[in-house]
Amino acid sequence: MAPEALEQVNAVRTLVIVLGDQLDRESAALDDFDPAQDCIWMAEVANESTHVWSHKQRISLFLAAMRRFRDDQRELGRRVAYRTLYSHPESTLGDALRADLGMLAPCGVRMVRPGDYRVQAMLNAVLTESGVAVKHVPDRHFLVSIGQFSRGADERNSTRLEHFYRQARVRLGILREPDGKSPTGGSWNFDRKNRGTFGREGPGQIAHPVSFGLDSSTREVLALVETHFHSHPGNQAAFDWPVTPAQARSALDDFIEYRLGGFGRYQDAMWTGETYLYHARLSSSLNLKLISPREVVQAVVEAYRAGRAPIEAVEGFVRQVLGWREYVRGLYWRHMPESLDENALGAHADLPRLYWTGETQMRCLSEVIGQTLRTGYAHHIQRLMVAGLFAQLLGVRPRAVHEWFLAVYVDAVEWVELPNTLGMSQYADGGRMASKPYVASGRYIQRMSNYCQGCRFDPGESTGDRACPFTTLYWNFLLEHRAKFSRHPRAALQWRSLD
Ligand code: FAD
Ligand code: SF4
Repeated sequence: MAPEALEQVNAVRTLVIVLGDQLDRESAALDDFDPAQDCIWMAEVANESTHVWSHKQRISLFLAAMRRFRDDQRELGRRVAYRTLYSHPESTLGDALRADLGMLAPCGVRMVRPGDYRVQAMLNAVLTESGVAVKHVPDRHFLVSIGQFSRGADERNSTRLEHFYRQARVRLGILREPDGKSPTGGSWNFDRKNRGTFGREGPGQIAHPVSFGLDSSTREVLALVETHFHSHPGNQAAFDWPVTPAQARSALDDFIEYRLGGFGRYQDAMWTGETYLYHARLSSSLNLKLISPREVVQAVVEAYRAGRAPIEAVEGFVRQVLGWREYVRGLYWRHMPESLDENALGAHADLPRLYWTGETQMRCLSEVIGQTLRTGYAHHIQRLMVAGLFAQLLGVRPRAVHEWFLAVYVDAVEWVELPNTLGMSQYADGGRMASKPYVASGRYIQRMSNYCQGCRFDPGESTGDRACPFTTLYWNFLLEHRAKFSRHPRAALQWRSLD
């Protein structure tokens, strides 16, 4: 069956390929688009949601946002050849593209490079085989290009975040004083001020993030996903993600108005029943390219200049978006595809079933996994120091951990997820990203949250009936990897405490 609107497409000069995570209305691929001769190509393909066992909200978000992009482009008078899910027999994106290249016979193809290595390899193979002329245009969404990242890493002989981040701030003039060199606020880094906890009284009232409601197009997608991906993890009752640029912008404004001020101080804190706390909830909008990192960074810096947020919050936030986000992308492309199979600590256990159900007596994990299944979201410390940490302490195969993280979060795309999981969370890269494994006992979770209250385990106990599994496994981890780290300059202290 032909994709929607194909029957109206006569000769095609340029076929502009737009993937589900390339919904940038300002994309260079759309420059010089001529509605009379050019055509946009998009496809919904089930395999993109099944190659890892994707959360239903993740599938719905991609499809809903893609359909809104399609409708916006058609409103501009542009032709869009769009394959809806299950309207065609082709099972992969590559097969769908091959079929349509045959049907449309464009003179050329234009696109921004795919964000994932897997998709890039698949589409490149089809495009090469077809013989069509392909033009890859620069990805204007990002603040640092892959080439710039690599050149910088070579020059500095370092792939550490801190070096990358400072250089990017200086080059782009972000939070920099008029002398051109000094950092605004007198420091490059306010991490010391950014490790606050809520104390006994808890976080108090934090304004609930803006809600977007469901239009008919999104409702249709939710129903479609419920029908075709019924057995997939998660549920959709709480679906409330931006699917248009306007909604993404309103999520940004809402964050700046109500939560940016507390972002820095409480960015590592967790609390039962509190999903978003002071976090921005912008990652899925950024990763689908509904909003640009430039716009996000500019807006928070302006908020600082206008006295609406303290420097530690604004610097902490800029560090995430201009720092971590751009940095992990550079690392991803520098080390793919070999990083997929890295396993520096030789971990071989299977991922426990509780990761798909949230059913466990460990309160921290049941909170974080339960929330993940309900919302498709967890903030950074919940991912790193609860879900990721337990898998690492248990010695789960990094590839299995990666596939879980790629499946269950609405913002999951491989270029950002993989380095975070394999590098930061599991130390599978052997120290490229973090100088030592981020491991801690249950005491860390006790300090940063209220999860341990009412848990049947005790974070201070490492043996016996009430022993906290995190604490027991932490000491076990130190014992198992003693030879590797006990002389490590930054890790030795942790290992010495083992004695
Ligand atoms: P905030 O906490 O409000 O941060 C603001 C923005 O900064 C985020 O929207 C995000 O774009 C960026 N950011 C923050 N931390 C990071 C980071 N470590 N790496 C890259 N960008 C960052 N983020 C994803 O976008 N997709 C993923 O698939 C993903 N997988 C992760 C897996 C693991 C194991 C870990 C430890 C982290 C992962 N992250 C991922 C990073 C981070 O957890 C999320 O970006 C963040 O929780 C999203 O929520 P937020 O928008 O409220 O972010
Ligand atoms: Fe988690 Fe251990 Fe605390 Fe229970 S006691 S919530 S298992 S850290």
